[in-house]
Parts: sequence; structure tokens; C-alpha cells
Amino acid sequence: MKFTQPKLPYAPDALEPVISAVTIDFHYGKHEKAYIDNLNRLIKDTPFEDMPLERIITESDGPLFNNASQAWNHIFYFFQFNPSGLKAPGGKLMEQIEAQYGSLEEFQKKFEEAGAGVFGSGWVWLANDAEGKLHIIKASNAENPLTQDLNPILVFDVWEHAYYLDYQNRRPDYLHRLWDIVDWSVIEQRYGY
Ligand code: MN
Repeated sequence: MKFTQPKLPYAPDALEPVISAVTIDFHYGKHEKAYIDNLNRLIKDTPFEDMPLERIITESDGPLFNNASQAWNHIFYFFQFNPSGLKAPGGKLMEQIEAQYGSLEEFQKKFEEAGAGVFGSGWVWLANDAEGKLHIIKASNAENPLTQDLNPILVFDVWEHAYYLDYQNRRPDYLHRLWDIVDWSVIEQRYGY
């Protein structure tokens, strides 16, 4: 099976000024496309060819893991944004955030701190375990909580290619601004156990 890059559900300039159209063009149009192209090249004529992407991620290592996971991670990242989306979660997810972190604001602060603290390239994830408990995970390179049997629900990309054109070295500013475009209705739907 050949993986294809899904079309973004918004215009390239829809996330401005938080993420510029130029960053979207490079980050989704070139970086993410390259991961998908590499993934397709690496699975060709191997047993991985007929597997769903999630299974490739949990069963591979080396270059195949890196490209499969990066292909998945970027789609997860880009499809959680909508400038006119829901600005705060409700229901079970909000209850769990308040139970564990006190408030949405406190959670956001901890999440930003974790993202700022990833050394080098990587991601900061929010994932839930089988009991519904939330975990903030600092991840290097292509790491994905799926490999730890956790269910990913939110992710911020902290590779420099995600923010350097718009924020240069100010990663904390980029992380803080991302809340303006996160659509919490998407995150709520991902929360499951
Ligand atoms: Mn990226």
C-alpha cells in the first residue's frame, strides 16, 4: 500500500500569525512530504507494505521507524489546528486535566515547559494510558507514545523547522502561541481509554 499525504483542511495562511504560510509550505509541503516519500520507498517489496501506519511504527526501527513515525506525527500535528476551533476542552478530558493539573492554564504551562525542555529535535506529547490518566511526554527525534502503549491526544513539534522561520530561536514563544490555534474539539475526540 502506498501512503499519500492528506490535503490540509485549511488554507496555507489560515493559521497566521501563529504559523505563517511560508512555514506551512516548507513544513507540510516539503518536510512532511519527504517523510512520506521515504516511507513509501522503504516499505516497497517488504512485509511492511500491507501494514497500517500505526503497526509499522510499533514494529520497525532505524530509518523505517523514523520516517513512518515522522509521517504519522506531522499529520497528527497539522490536523489538530483550526483558528476558529474550540478554545478549551469540556467533558471527561477537562475533568481529567483539572484533577491532575488543577486547571487548564496550569496544564498548558507544564506542557510548554516540557516542550521548551526537549533537548534538540523532538516533540512534546499529551497521551493517556489505559486508565485515562494523562501523561506529558518529552520525546526525542521521531519518538511516539504509541510505542509505549499510550494513546496520543495532543502534540507540539519542537524541531527547529517547525518554528525557526517565524520565531527564530524563541521556541517558548512559539509553544505559547500554539494554544491560539489548537482546536480542543479534535483533542477531546482523541481522548479515549
Ligand atoms: Mn516537523
